[in-house]
Amino acid sequence: MSDSKSTPIIAIATGNGNAGIGILRLSGPQKSVTEISSKLFSGKKLESRYAYLLPIHDKDGEIIDRGIVIFFAAPFSYTGESVLEIQVHGGRASLEFIQNELLDRFSDLGLRLANPGEFTERAFLNGKIDLIQAEATADLIEASTLQSVKAASRSLRGDFSKEISKLNDELINLRVEVEAMLDFPEEEIDFINQYGSRDKIESIKKHLEDIIKNAKQGEILRDGLRVAIIGETNVGKSSLLNALAGEEVAIVSDIAGTTRDRIKTSINISGVLFHFVDTAGIRETNDAIEKIGIERSKQEISNADIVLQILDVTSLNDEDHKKLDDLLHTIKKEDVPVIRVFNKSDLLDSSQHSISIVSRETVISTSAVTGAGLQELKNALVKLSGVTDNYSVYSARERHLNLLKAASLHLNQASDFIKSNNPQLELFAEELRESSDNLGEIIGKTTSDDLLGKIFSGFCIGK
Ligand code: GDP
Ligand code: ZN
Repeated sequence: MSDSKSTPIIAIATGNGNAGIGILRLSGPQKSVTEISSKLFSGKKLESRYAYLLPIHDKDGEIIDRGIVIFFAAPFSYTGESVLEIQVHGGRASLEFIQNELLDRFSDLGLRLANPGEFTERAFLNGKIDLIQAEATADLIEASTLQSVKAASRSLRGDFSKEISKLNDELINLRVEVEAMLDFPEEEIDFINQYGSRDKIESIKKHLEDIIKNAKQGEILRDGLRVAIIGETNVGKSSLLNALAGEEVAIVSDIAGTTRDRIKTSINISGVLFHFVDTAGIRETNDAIEKIGIERSKQEISNADIVLQILDVTSLNDEDHKKLDDLLHTIKKEDVPVIRVFNKSDLLDSSQHSISIVSRETVISTSAVTGAGLQELKNALVKLSGVTDNYSVYSARERHLNLLKAASLHLNQASDFIKSNNPQLELFAEELRESSDNLGEIIGKTTSDDLLGKIFSGFCIGK
C-alpha cells in the first residue's frame, strides 16, 4: 500500500455556497479513523452504517455544532477505506471551521486536507470502481443536461465498463486459442478454419464499432457540440441566438481575450448541449483589427462541429454562399455540416417565399421576431448531433474514444494478418494483445501515475 493511501484525509464534500446541510468526509485506514472518531465523540463507539446525532466539540470542549455522524467500516464505503461522514449545518464558514479544527487536532495522526478527486482516486485504487466509473463520477457532478446526467449515471453504474470488459474477454479468448497454436505451425491453417478465427475477429470488430458509435454519442452528451455562427452584421445573428436561448436554458460566457464579436452561448436543446459562437463576418478587409477578427472566425469554424450561416432573406446574394464554400475549402472543412438560415422571413410577402436551393446544406427559413422556423432549426441541430433518445448511451470522454480507435486499428491489422493466404499467427496474436491493452487502459487495468494524476486533478476537492 502506498504512503499517500495510508494517511487519513478530510474535505468538505458539499458545494461552495451556504446551504441547509453540509457534509465533511474523512477517509483513512480503520485504525486512524476509529481513533479520530473516538477522540472526537468522547469515546463513543460507532457501529458501521448507523446514524448518530452527536455534538462536535472544539479542543476546549465547547460545542461548535451538532450533526448526524455515520461511520462506514472498511471496505464497505465509497473509498474502500474507513470513512466518517459528518453532516452538520451547511454554512461555509462553520464547515471550514470544523474542518480546520479537525485538521488541527488530528494532525499528529496524519490527518490532512484531501487533494482534488482523492476520495474517488482511493476508491479506484482500492478496486471499488474502475477508471470509467471514476471519470463518470466527475461527469455526473458536472452534467448540465438531463441526457448527460443519465449517460453519466449509466457509466457510473458500469454499463460502459461492462461493454469494454465483455469485448476484452472475447479478444483474450481468441488470443489464448491462437497462442496455444503457435507451437504447431503446420496446423495453423487447419486451426484457423476449424475455430472460425476469421469470423471471430470480424464479430469482435463489429462489436467494437458499435461501442465506438455509442461512445461518440456519449462524448457529445458530455461535451456538447460547437456551432460556429457566421453571417454579415445585421442579418440577425444575435437576435436568433437570443430567440433560441429564450426558450431554453442558456449559459452565456465571454471567451477570454476576445471582446470583439465573439460570445459563447451554450444552449440545451432536447438534452444536447450546443455551444454557439457568434463569429465576426467573413468579409475580406484591410482593417487590422477586423483581420484579427476574421482569423478568429476561421479558427472558430475550424473547431466547429456544425456551421450555422445566417443570411438576411431580404438581401440575399449568391456571393455569400460562395464565400462560405471558399472559406470552408481554405480551412479544409468541406465536410462540416452546414445549416443555412434565411432569417427575417417575416419581412417577405408570401409571393417571395420560394427560395431555390441547390446545395447539400440544410436550409431553414426563420424569423427571430415571430419565432417562425425556430423549432425546425432546433430539430435540424439535434438531428445533426446524431444523438437519438437512445437509452444505451453512456458518457464517454475523448480519452476513451482515442483508445477505442487505437484498439480498432490493431484489430484491423490483426484481421489483415489472418486474412492473407499465408496467415501470420504470431503477428495476429500480437495485434490482439495490443488491442486488448488499449481496452484495458480505458477501464484502468493498465494505467500510469501520469494518467491518474491528470484525471483526478480535474476533480474538485471533496470528490
Ligand atoms: P447581427 O448583427 O447579425 O447580430 O444582427 P442583430 O441580431 O443585431 O439584428 C440586426 C437587426 O435586425 C436588429 O434591428 C434586429 O431587430 C433585426 N432583426 C433580426 N432578426 C430579425 C427578423 O427575423 N425579422 C425582422 N424583421 N428583424 C430582425
Ligand atoms: Zn450580433
